[in-house]
Amino acid sequence: MAHCVVSEAEVILDKEFPVLDKGFVRLVDYLGGDERVVQSARVSYGEGTKSYREDAGLIDYLLRNRHTSPFEQVVLTFHVKLPVFVARQWIRHRTARLNEISGRYSVMKDDFYLPAGGDLALQSADNKQGRSDTPLETTEAERIRAELGAAQKQAYGDYMTLVEGGLARELARINLPLSLYTEWYWQIDLHNLFHFLELRLDGHAQKEIRLYAEVLFDITKKVAPRCCASFADHVLGAVHFSRTEFAELQRRLGGGDFPVKLEGKALERFEEKMQSGRQK
Ligand SMILES: Cc1cc2nc3c(=O)[nH]c(=O)nc-3n(C[C@H](O)[C@H](O)[C@H](O)COP(=O)(O)OP(=O)(O)OC[C@H]3O[C@@H](n4cnc5c(N)ncnc54)[C@H](O)[C@@H]3O)c2cc1C
Repeated sequence: MAHCVVSEAEVILDKEFPVLDKGFVRLVDYLGGDERVVQSARVSYGEGTKSYREDAGLIDYLLRNRHTSPFEQVVLTFHVKLPVFVARQWIRHRTARLNEISGRYSVMKDDFYLPAGGDLALQSADNKQGRSDTPLETTEAERIRAELGAAQKQAYGDYMTLVEGGLARELARINLPLSLYTEWYWQIDLHNLFHFLELRLDGHAQKEIRLYAEVLFDITKKVAPRCCASFADHVLGAVHFSRTEFAELQRRLGGGDFPVKLEGKALERFEEKMQSGRQK
């Protein structure tokens, strides 16, 4: 079976897609695409690719039924430049391989993430892990941006003073802030990338990592468009119901005889889910 060449992916190889103020994602390489998923799924029958419709149907079937191993046959390698606080969330996804720039070996660059004014907001009142939907008023946002920028400048100045004074780079770096940019090569198969995207495209994920996830997904659509379409339909756009929620739905449609009823917060969550179409 020949090497899979996906012309749409070839066009974007090595191209930097900007994220945040100084970050980027770049597709370094890919192995396989929609065709490889189909080939590997059909190996049991000794059949290769069929018509476009049949292949798309097979991919959709595999995704719907969580027959995930054919998706592991597709591998993508990215070069990513990202702030350290995003990297700390990202690295929790253990089913990938990576190599990061070494702050012991290299002098770190003077690159820090400074959020745009519109991204600065107060602590959310109803979400302990997030920010309010209302951005800070412009003057206050500019004051905070100036404060963050000054602290970054000070931290980098102190770092360079220590490096130039001969202190080991592995020690000179320890007071650098989480806003510092780092870089890595990150390689992951399509099944585990979908798992990453499901979690990090979700509204519960921090906006900064979500922006990276959006770019990763756009790039992945070039490599495996049919897989991505099925993933968008059956995973990203799907809403799941618990057994009690489903019973409530059946009851409203005039059927079902499940004895437990939804009430209180659970009922509120269900109503909200039905109206917004978002997983709660
Ligand atoms: C919105 C959000 C908020 C979060 N908040 C926090 C937080 O406050 N604190 C915090 O610490 N983390 C937090 N996380 C990280 C989260 O708990 C997971 O660690 C992260 O999302 C990676 O998910 P994963 O383990 O499923 O992925 P992967 O590491 O890619 O693993 C994929 C799957 O492989 C299996 N697996 C992989 N490695 C192992 C292993 N060693 N042992 C057993 N099974 C394994 C598991 O089934 C896992 O689901 C948050 C994540 C999100 C999306």
